[in-house]
Amino acid sequence: MIIQLKNDISESQKEALIDEVSQTGYKITEVKTQLGDYLVGIGKKEFDIRRIGQKEGIQDIHIVSDEYKLVSKKWKVAPTAIDLGDGISIKDGDMAVIAGPCSIESEDQIRKVIGHLKENNIKMMRGGVFKPRSSPYAFRGLGLDGLKLWYELAQEAGIKIVTEVMQVSQIEEMYPYVDIYQVGARNTQNFNLLDELGKVDKAVMIKRGISGTIEELLQSAEYVFSGGNEKLILCERGIRTYERASRNTLDLNAVPILKAKSHLPVIVDPSHGIGLREYVSQMALAGVMAGADGIIYETHEIPEKAYSDGQQTLDFAQSALLTDWIRKTFEMRKTFDLI
Ligand code: PEP
Ligand code: MN
Repeated sequence: MIIQLKNDISESQKEALIDEVSQTGYKITEVKTQLGDYLVGIGKKEFDIRRIGQKEGIQDIHIVSDEYKLVSKKWKVAPTAIDLGDGISIKDGDMAVIAGPCSIESEDQIRKVIGHLKENNIKMMRGGVFKPRSSPYAFRGLGLDGLKLWYELAQEAGIKIVTEVMQVSQIEEMYPYVDIYQVGARNTQNFNLLDELGKVDKAVMIKRGISGTIEELLQSAEYVFSGGNEKLILCERGIRTYERASRNTLDLNAVPILKAKSHLPVIVDPSHGIGLREYVSQMALAGVMAGADGIIYETHEIPEKAYSDGQQTLDFAQSALLTDWIRKTFEMRKTFDLI
């Protein structure tokens, strides 16, 4: 159950309400976000909402049977839009393109990628400065200094930054330079990190865990929302299956399912999803047709020389083509009545 509170509810009204609902065996958690004040009730018994529906201070009450509550579409039917400022957003009914290298490598590389993005009217750039690598000997990113440098150049170009945060201590130091915090597949169930990201007032993109279910992804998003941050984006990036012909198996089933279950925007990462450069574009376009609100992919001037994930990275010519195809495919999708 979700009880949406009015802005002007008094503390005593709130306490009385919590008392009354708790007495019916419901465990109540209060959630305060940038946008609202909610009481989330967890309980098994039937609850007749007419009991409290007339009380002062309540805006609305919803019964949500899903395990996750606040990210569910059962109470918030209208899709959530993520507004990044300067007319840039990620939202249902639109197609966000986020492109950039796997890792931020140098000033020269950042400048080249930004030049490419600007030429193609791409407004959001991805790139890692803290890199989770399977081997401790692999390149692990330029860290905060790299992020600061990137931020300066991106600011000048009017480009938004999407980058991975790996641990709690990085959240604050990264804050001034980030537009969207990325939670990587390996950290999707780092609940301490998710809790802390609930306290920031910037968007968070949560990638699906390597072996994570759709439900687990939604529960991870619930952590951030219930921590106080409603600015959430879900990302399907492929899961580990028995198939070894591709790096991961991009689960495009997840896209319409997530869109149906949650009000949050959903984006697809075909680069990590298939892990093979020659098939990234096909899977990106399939993601668009599956209903994604955006595509995030890896690009680099010379993919063979990229410090990480070169094998799944598009060169600029391929990236320019793909961006055009993404936009055209999206225009076509809009003419279908798929949902
Ligand atoms: C990345 O985006 O470069 C990355 C490491 O992604 P993931 O967490 O999905 O593996
Ligand atoms: Mn990568």
